Amino acid sequence: MANVIKRFIAGAVCPRCSEMDKLVVYRQDERDYRECVSCDFAEEMLFTQPSADLETRANRDLDRQAIKFVDASVKK
Ligand SMILES: [Zn+2]
Repeated sequence: MANVIKRFIAGAVCPRCSEMDKLVVYRQDERDYRECVSCDFAEEMLFTQPSADLETRANRDLDRQAIKFVDASVKK
């Protein structure tokens, strides 16, 4: 717990007790957490990108390959 800097999130409302400006964020063990100083609310903050984004990009690449294939066929 050494050197854990907790910063208040201005204007943030606690989802549990609905108090404003009571939420703090801090980083510990390579993970980001937020917690409420008014109640016992605490959770890990997850920033993982939705996998749907990557799938969309992959599908777009597949479409481009399909188009190239069609063009090549036309030239023959
Ligand atoms: Zn709270």
